Amino acid sequence: MILASHVLIGGAIGAAFREPALAIPLALASHYLLDAVPHREYRIARLEAGFRDHGFIVELLAVFADLALGFAILLALAPPPLAIVAGFAAALPDAVTFLSFLMRENGILRAQRAFHRRIHLMRREQVPWLLALLTQGSAVLVGVFVILAAG
Ligand SMILES: [Zn+2]
Repeated sequence: MILASHVLIGGAIGAAFREPALAIPLALASHYLLDAVPHREYRIARLEAGFRDHGFIVELLAVFADLALGFAILLALAPPPLAIVAGFAAALPDAVTFLSFLMRENGILRAQRAFHRRIHLMRREQVPWLLALLTQGSAVLVGVFVILAAG
């Protein structure tokens, strides 16, 4: 899923479970669970290929805009500090995957990337747009609702 969805679900976990030892691992695990849900997301093929052309910068900016959007929404909801930490934890697997694009020979990063890829049960092209909007939108709405309800 897009980073904004991960950040909001992580934030919701942090807001709901006010114990860091529980919330942070759950937020981390939520990333893989959400990625197993059928969804679509923007392409990062240029990021994956490494810095070769301006496409890398365009995709990197898209990732930062996505992350900034998630945290802007999260911060606007004035959640407890643990929700912000959990938001970062929920986004972390994508950051680790990005790191694996830059450090291809690292076995741990490669194993995480392979697991991360396998957890996507459907390829992006197989997911109908309506279903993709429904799952992505639901993640955002559930995240926002839980954060507001827990506050
Ligand atoms: Zn992911």
